[in-house]
Amino acid sequence: MTQRLALVTGGTRGIGAALSKALKAAGHTVAATYHSNDEAARKFSAETGIHVFKWDVGNFDACKNGIAKIEADLKRPIEILVNNAGITQDTTLHKMTPDQWHKVIETNLTSCFNMCRHVIEGMRERGYGRIINIGSINGRKGQFGQTNYSAAKSGILGFTRSLALESAAKGITVNAVAPGYINTEMVQAVDAAILQKIIAQIPANRLGTPEDVADLVVWLASDKSSFVTGATFDINGGQYMV
Ligand code: NDP
Repeated sequence: MTQRLALVTGGTRGIGAALSKALKAAGHTVAATYHSNDEAARKFSAETGIHVFKWDVGNFDACKNGIAKIEADLKRPIEILVNNAGITQDTTLHKMTPDQWHKVIETNLTSCFNMCRHVIEGMRERGYGRIINIGSINGRKGQFGQTNYSAAKSGILGFTRSLALESAAKGITVNAVAPGYINTEMVQAVDAAILQKIIAQIPANRLGTPEDVADLVVWLASDKSSFVTGATFDINGGQYMV
């Protein structure tokens, strides 16, 4: 297998940490980014030996500078990009502030533009690239209290298909993965009673694990997936089937 440089946004915690570790285990050099939790990032880097970089993926110029630094520090171009960083700021629309709307759209959706924009030209020139965008079950089906998050995650799927069309002839694949409820801090923050109700709706009768997502992402990031592009993969224990 060809060993490449993979960048995972939000790659120091939760699903992203599992993706970073699995890509490293597959032989790739990995750069994991994060936003503010220095302690978690330091611990993750010390435990895994994975390089970590800090910036806000919602900021276009910060993405440009961060990507340039990673490529300079690690002395190779980014050939695998996993847009995983995401946040929730849940509330019903009649209570939602403009800040809650914009922050979630910027972090989850605009980040995909900010990141892809700065790697796509190099990928096109080299004739190779793998882009994997992490969506959500709630971008597929909608969710009470998540108009901002569902809009961002649905938007990722349209973004993925359009960029896939633009990139297919250049050896670049662009796919989305839409996880269901995965046992990370984001889900652990959900009220216990609500979480029990959610688990009761999952035919597999359990939350997913970050590793459930990682195996598919490693394959999508590999040379073997070259004829798969513009697709969305649901990983949700049967909770929602399209
Ligand atoms: P976590 O909250 O556990 O981790 C989020 C990661 O993203 C952290 O590394 C965090 O950095 C980083 N991050 C957050 N905001 C920014 C930002 N502005 N700039 C750069 N990095 C940022 O999330 P999960 O692992 O649960 O989720 C990962 C992805 O999977 C998200 O896109 C989420 O929407 C999606 N998802 C998750 C599901 C779940 O059940 N957990 C279900 C479906 C989708 P820091 O450590 O500094 O905060």
